[in-house]
Amino acid sequence: MTKLPELFGSEVFNDAVMRRRLPKETYEALKKTVEDGKPLDISLANVVANSMKDWAVERGATHYTHWFQPMTGVTAEKHDSFISPRPDGSVIMEFSGKALVQGEPDASSFPSGGLRATFEARGYTAWDPTSYAFIKEGILFIPTAFCSYSGHALDNKTPLLRSMKAIEVQALRVLKLFGSNAKRVYTTTGIEQEYFLVDRETYNKRKDLIYTGRTLFGAPPPKGQDMDIHYFGSIKMRISAYMRELNEELWKVGVLAKTEHNENAPAQHELAPIFMTTNVACDHNQIIMERMRRVAKKHGLTCLLHEKPFADVSGSGKHNNWSMATDEGVNLLDPGKTPEENAQFLLFFCAVIKAVDEDQELLRISVATAGNDHRLGGFEAPPAIVSVYVGEELEAILDAIDTGIHYDKKAVGNLEVGVDILPAFPRDATDRNRTSPFAFTGSRFEFRMPGSSMSVAAPNTVLNCIVAESLCQFADELEGAENFNSALNDLIRRTIREHRRVIFNGNGYDAAWVEEAERRGLVNLPSTADAVPHLMDEKNVAVFKKHGVYSEDELRSRRDIRLDAYCRTIRTEANTMLEMVNVDYIPAVIAYETVLAEAINAKRSAGSAIPYRTESMLLADIAAQNDTLHDSAAALKRLMDGAKGFGPEQNVELARYYRTKVLPEMNEVRKLVDSLELMVGKKFWPFPSTGSLLYRV
Ligand code: ADP
Ligand code: MG
Repeated sequence: MTKLPELFGSEVFNDAVMRRRLPKETYEALKKTVEDGKPLDISLANVVANSMKDWAVERGATHYTHWFQPMTGVTAEKHDSFISPRPDGSVIMEFSGKALVQGEPDASSFPSGGLRATFEARGYTAWDPTSYAFIKEGILFIPTAFCSYSGHALDNKTPLLRSMKAIEVQALRVLKLFGSNAKRVYTTTGIEQEYFLVDRETYNKRKDLIYTGRTLFGAPPPKGQDMDIHYFGSIKMRISAYMRELNEELWKVGVLAKTEHNENAPAQHELAPIFMTTNVACDHNQIIMERMRRVAKKHGLTCLLHEKPFADVSGSGKHNNWSMATDEGVNLLDPGKTPEENAQFLLFFCAVIKAVDEDQELLRISVATAGNDHRLGGFEAPPAIVSVYVGEELEAILDAIDTGIHYDKKAVGNLEVGVDILPAFPRDATDRNRTSPFAFTGSRFEFRMPGSSMSVAAPNTVLNCIVAESLCQFADELEGAENFNSALNDLIRRTIREHRRVIFNGNGYDAAWVEEAERRGLVNLPSTADAVPHLMDEKNVAVFKKHGVYSEDELRSRRDIRLDAYCRTIRTEANTMLEMVNVDYIPAVIAYETVLAEAINAKRSAGSAIPYRTESMLLADIAAQNDTLHDSAAALKRLMDGAKGFGPEQNVELARYYRTKVLPEMNEVRKLVDSLELMVGKKFWPFPSTGSLLYRV
């Protein structure tokens, strides 16, 4: 391996490369356009494109692609080569400014949720110069946004960029009141990614994993994860070779892969990069997922990014660490040392608390997928109820501000925000409350509900937008205030009081919390079918519209696409189940029954003294269970036929039908198969066991 500092970013057209290779005026003009968020002038784009192409070709690239993020949650690319024909029959390598700035993939098959009809299929991609271009496997990747010609966002990146602008505008208004000279505010995100690695050959024998990404069947192995030896345990050689190559691949394209460790479950691992501005972090997370899968293949492994690949084992999520920072390098969620810094921190902190409380549904909706439904509330992942963990000390400080009574029960008089020094904040709070969906961890919030396979663009878009709304209301109130300090005090005190209910430091896995949350009036939307329809609630449409993040049409398209994806996922799972039961499991059970029956007959004819009690008891048991399985599969089939009766406008109803009718029957089918798995002879069983997937990597 080359030295890491040389390897890092070696395949990225980053700032250092641009500075080195672009004419000085071009470099400065480009920087300025990016900083001002203005469109790129075409003559400027021509110079940049040419330099980018020369750099890429030197590195062996032959093609470029406008890399974009359609609403499928993964990324899309279409490769074009740089070659351009010459009259003499030869070719030259060419790349124009126009081709850099704008592309027109004929991407009409991506879901648009009605935002464009295929007859006007033209969508275009536009370069996002805030995210660097990079080379992967001979292709120059240009991060782009994807829109329709009528200006509708057809992707996940465009709304995210809009939300970053929205929060910046409002945060700057607030900062100005504190006398800050900041010119820019960015949101920052660091995404911890959980994943499973299983042996590829074993994986290839599992139809359910191949078709659906999760095991639909499988009796729990004799040894469960309760042994707790895997978490942070020493990493097996094969896995460590995988991690080494993965890191190198990521470093090359500028991803700051930093920590890696074994997770809770056997065969489960985690990778966390160092945080970046949010849109780059989201791009990088897409690269991470893609590389994880690709590198796994080279090591004879398969990477499972599904939220719940195994029923009785911890699922996988993404922890979305989030904060706001200024161009002066100030982390706005970092408590300061002076009264002024404390006050500013508290206001931004309160903006987040208020946003999370007022828009719980939106956060919940932003992480709702069929896969994540198996995880949220699954007693090893945060519940589907949104609450905020702030830690005991910080909670006591908030209480002291609210009531004037300090947590050591001494009255402190009125704790004046912005005047008094607040008691020391819990720095880097030893937050090991893994049960909280939204935790303050000393200088950032950690949103733990996102699922492992999803794009985190949408959750961050929501977070940015709802915090922008809080900050907007704060700025409206404070800008008009006669006495800033007392207005600030009132505002912070009132915000704490009004949104106190969303703060919960207790055990989120506790069943009592569900009742307690209900008493507090917090929203509990247990499934995607319950959650996603609320996207179009008046209040939700309004907040996105106000900040220019999603139009009503764009929002409706997202609701439809998400419900559709939910239904499609369950349909595929149910169909896979039916196939496995009918053509694999039931025939396998019958084969074993036949052997048992033959054994009974053989023993009988061999002589009346020979016992065959075991065979006949087993046979009776198995035959009865196989009948029940057959009935249950038939019932599932009828329900699936019933799903065909819903019209295209009935996606909300169809999603509910899958949730309330189909899923419970799928669970029944599964239970019966899993029970049979522990009764039928091993050599008859058609699929490798869960144990062999989890423990034989
Ligand atoms: P833990 O497992 O204790 O939560 P990790 O180190 O695994 O911690 O992950 C923490 C993540 O939070 C990293 O990606 C880190 O870069 C990120 N992070 C730290 N500070 C910030 C911040 N100010 N804004 C966004 N993310 C941050
Ligand atoms: Mg974390």
